[in-house]
Amino acid sequence: MTAAPPDIIGRDEARALGLKRFFTGKPCRRGHVAERGVSNLECMECSRGRSREWRAANLKKARERARERARKYRAANPKKARERARERARKYRAANLEKVREREREYGRKRRTTNPGRVKEVRRAWHAANLEKVREGARERARKYRAADPERARENRRRWRAANLELAREGERERILRYNKRQAAQRRAGRAGSELKRSRTGRLVIEGNH
Ligand SMILES: [Zn+2]
Repeated sequence: MTAAPPDIIGRDEARALGLKRFFTGKPCRRGHVAERGVSNLECMECSRGRSREWRAANLKKARERARERARKYRAANPKKARERARERARKYRAANLEKVREREREYGRKRRTTNPGRVKEVRRAWHAANLEKVREGARERARKYRAADPERARENRRRWRAANLELAREGERERILRYNKRQAAQRRAGRAGSELKRSRTGRLVIEGNH
């Protein structure tokens, strides 16, 4: 990336304007044509080079300082820091999707062997808190399965029914009961509506056998 060179501005003029840097256009003794510090006359390119060298020679300390700076930033700007972290994670995930997924799968495998109880517990808690989602997911999978292979789905149902006859009959009875209840509720609602209409017109008629 090439940037336009800064405007020529002498040290005194820069100081008078309250600037921290000035620029003469003349090379430093190492040949950099760069801005210099108003307070210490140091060439910025030399300064960056010294920082890099120091960092390379003091990697551990440099990392500690960076961590400390980041910690202070997070403490002073918690919301912004969280947003930035999320954004970084999102970008990293998008750029390394396969790697991230493989790592997540690997993590899941490890957790299931090292702490199967905890994994099951978390899954149960999630299911309990998202029952509707879980049921909808199961319904959706079943729908897809039936659509993809209706003959096999029917055959599966037949086989399951034959192996679980009592349970299947119980389920059917329950469905019929639920159906009858719904029908009865609808009839009651219909009657209540017509009773209300009649009582509004002044004729109070109570229907039904109660
Ligand atoms: Zn320099």
